Amino acid sequence: MAATFRLKSRLALVTGGGSGIGRAISQRLSLEGASVAVVDVNIDSAKDTLQSLCHGLVGQAHTAFQVDVSQSQSVSALIEQIQAQYSRSPCIAISSAGITRDEFLLHLAEESFDSVLSVNLKGPFLITQAVARALVANGQNKGSIINIGSIVGKVGNLGQCNYAASKAGVEGLTRTAAKELARYGIRCNTVLPGFISTPMTDKVPQKVLDKISGSIPMGRLGKPEDIADVCAFLASDDSKYITGASIEVTGGLFM
Ligand code: NAP
Repeated sequence: MAATFRLKSRLALVTGGGSGIGRAISQRLSLEGASVAVVDVNIDSAKDTLQSLCHGLVGQAHTAFQVDVSQSQSVSALIEQIQAQYSRSPCIAISSAGITRDEFLLHLAEESFDSVLSVNLKGPFLITQAVARALVANGQNKGSIINIGSIVGKVGNLGQCNYAASKAGVEGLTRTAAKELARYGIRCNTVLPGFISTPMTDKVPQKVLDKISGSIPMGRLGKPEDIADVCAFLASDDSKYITGASIEVTGGLFM
């Protein structure tokens, strides 16, 4: 249980909230007192997350929404549904939805490049734009947008040129948004996970994961909760003078 309810009365939107890092973030924000809109392309997994959220405070209400973050109409409809449900816009938005379609550059299909860029980069763009527009229109003058990038966007990774490009793009998108939105009281930051144990990394052969663990100074893969800790900090007023930052959460990998 969080020591204090740093996010009491706040409404948070978490994409990819049905699995892995997005689920852990949703759980942590609910522990901190936020109401959470759990957003995922898979509504059943979003509803499963809903069952695990904390309802410790009066007025805390969580909802699951089915959305494809790569489709602008789907994202616009999401913001309308959230406003109808809660009579306000989310002041915290975390984009964790993401996919991989790994292949070496020489063999990568154009479709695999496009689909990864659509979900991992266009998704955060659409969410950042829609949430910022709503906050500015409502004159809320306070918000925290957090996009989940990856250390791979900085250092590259074999078989992941599409994924690495999408995650490098997320940092550029977020820094630019930070510059443009600071005047509206909206902070924008990127979290760069290293290798974290989730259904996404379950696809990686154990032999490869063991090799990666061996090269991490802290000696283990990360847990989704390690990322959620940093997101809760960035969502809260404890980070009120931080914007445009990229925070590595890697156990020291590639430092
Ligand atoms: P995950 O367990 O696969 O969760 C991703 C979630 O996003 C899934 O529920 C997925 O649904 C959903 N999703 C996929 N496409 C979507 C769409 N178009 N619209 C809405 N939701 C969609 O992955 P994770 O490991 O938690 O990753 C979360 C984020 O962290 C991703 O952005 C990932 O790139 C990033 N990251 C992860 C690691 C790691 O080591 N795990 C490292 C660095 C960065 P389906 O399952 O139905 O596809």
